[in-house]
Amino acid sequence: MLSHRKSCYCAFCKIERKVYANKHLRLIDVMALIGFGVVLTFTVFKSLDPRGLAIVGTLLVIGELFAQTKWRTAMICRNCGFDPVVYVRNPEAAGLKIKAFLEKRSESPEHLLMPPVVLPKKPVKGKNLSLKV
Ligand SMILES: [Zn+2]
Repeated sequence: MLSHRKSCYCAFCKIERKVYANKHLRLIDVMALIGFGVVLTFTVFKSLDPRGLAIVGTLLVIGELFAQTKWRTAMICRNCGFDPVVYVRNPEAAGLKIKAFLEKRSESPEHLLMPPVVLPKKPVKGKNLSLKV
């Protein structure tokens, strides 16, 4: 598939990363899968056959599952483990996932050369710093 990625910043560690822009199959992907299904139908049945629709349908379902899985796995930050999808549903669970990821990260040699995670600081209670000039 033709990948279409866009740059964004992690909301937790503020590192630039790339994510897939489309959660679902694009029109060009659907057309490519239909074309591949037609070629596969010709290969299997030696002509256009109604059973080829089952092949095309199966290819479209597999392609959609693959596109959604690819989008979902790309949403998780590889530097800090922040998952914005989980954060929208349950912020505490997202925090626990980040904590577990950071503990695993400190023991893993894969992350030795990656930039350090700068944890966000808690706001000072009782003081509204945004009003200071
Ligand atoms: Zn991050």
